[in-house]
Amino acid sequence: MMKFLILIGLLVLLYWYFARRKKKLAKNRKRELIEEMVFDENCKSYVRKKEAIKIEFNGKTYYFCSKKCAEEFLKKISKLQS
Ligand SMILES: [Zn+2]
Repeated sequence: MMKFLILIGLLVLLYWYFARRKKKLAKNRKRELIEEMVFDENCKSYVRKKEAIKIEFNGKTYYFCSKKCAEEFLKKISKLQS
């Protein structure tokens, strides 16, 4: 009887272990899809594309972490060009 219980316990542990691993893998895959990173030219940092502010300027696409960054960058760029 004791052996039987141990066996069941092991099976449950194994099942739990693989179930957790599967979940983790699925989570990682999801994160990869969501967290595509883009570069913020203003504060020189990487931002998640989904959260970034997209601005098209002179046929080029720029991404920013915030509206403030976008505005600052546009100001800089227009100063450079004028
Ligand atoms: Zn920024």
